[in-house]
Amino acid sequence: MVKIDMEKIKKMYDDYVLNTYVRQDLCITRGEGTWVEDEKGKKYLDFFPGWAVSGTGHRHPKVIARIEEQLKKILHVSNNFYNENQPELAKKIIEHSFPGKVFFSNSGAEANEGAIKFARKYGSASSRYEIITMEKSFHGRTLATLTATGQDKVKKGFAPLPEGFKHIPFNDKEAFLSAISDKTVAVMIEPVQGEGGINVAGESYMRSLAEICREKDILLICDEVQTCMGRTGKMFGYQHFGIEPDVITLAKSLGGGMPIGALVIKDKHKDVLGPGSHAATFGGSPIVCAAALGVFDAIEEEGLLENVNVMGPYLTESIKKSKDISKYIGKIKGKGLMLGVELNIEDGSKIVEECMKEGLLVNCTQKNILRIMPPINVKKEEIDIAIDKLSKVMEKI
Ligand SMILES: *Cc1c(COP(=O)(O)O)cnc(C)c1O
Repeated sequence: MVKIDMEKIKKMYDDYVLNTYVRQDLCITRGEGTWVEDEKGKKYLDFFPGWAVSGTGHRHPKVIARIEEQLKKILHVSNNFYNENQPELAKKIIEHSFPGKVFFSNSGAEANEGAIKFARKYGSASSRYEIITMEKSFHGRTLATLTATGQDKVKKGFAPLPEGFKHIPFNDKEAFLSAISDKTVAVMIEPVQGEGGINVAGESYMRSLAEICREKDILLICDEVQTCMGRTGKMFGYQHFGIEPDVITLAKSLGGGMPIGALVIKDKHKDVLGPGSHAATFGGSPIVCAAALGVFDAIEEEGLLENVNVMGPYLTESIKKSKDISKYIGKIKGKGLMLGVELNIEDGSKIVEECMKEGLLVNCTQKNILRIMPPINVKKEEIDIAIDKLSKVMEKI
């Protein structure tokens, strides 16, 4: 137990921390695997670990081992020099995706910002700059990425926004075709929309998107910030569709709890961003790359993709089977262990709150989509406990 005066912590937040987040009334002091603990020693089953960052669970031993090994050597090396971990991690990412090159950033927004810059640079030769994105998408909070985001709430008050973004309905091929102009250079899409309510792209839709892109020399950018690292049952979300994008962006669970993002660009475009065209001071430092290598160790050596493909359906079936839960829900959407449970009630935040009291952490997005994303190494028994807690909450409400 980590002794903390909760009232004092809250007061200090009020006094010194900019008030940009809605916080739940919980101070997390420890975490191990699928479990976290608060300052009173109460344990919570974490089925939304770190907003999808701690995808292999909290303090995964293989992540910790890599970090500890690196801690003894050096924390940061600037990109004017070589460091041993950065290319090793880039190689891992490429081996699991497509022949290409990696640029390391520190967050998802920054990876997407890089993808947008890449697309602009690519298009500059043919005077094209327009990027098509999806309604309900989420791409980050920098000026360019919030403009790319297909949700008005993140844009309010920040005008003028950068030009050159167009939004179309998700899973609508005709809408894509009619949005294309002689200025279009790229389309950016999440294979499964996360913040937008766990909306899965249709298989034939993604295939035609890829085909149209190829025909018209439009870049296909997959934002895999939330879907990466096995979340959906494949290493990357696009791999469900039999397509190969020009660019993928990664972050969230890539670092197993450490801040890292990555922009992955296909080999044929590797010279678009040359020396001096893009940079990030912290990008690809040996300590965060070490953590990400630990995530790959875990996924590869512990068969975690297979685990997702067993536990995903088990979790879905368990929800459906529970009479207490199924009364209050509509569709269950998602892929692998990225699940959105449609609630029949208007405001799901009450359920999230009650779950927390019951010792289960989940999230709600788009008001009534319960987002359930346990660590990809979650065990059957933990799912059983979560279902138990969730049905208790549903019964009460
Ligand atoms: C979270 C998220 C981002 C933004 O990532 P940050 O690390 O918060 O900048 C971008 N795209 C998707 C799909 C995300 O889920």
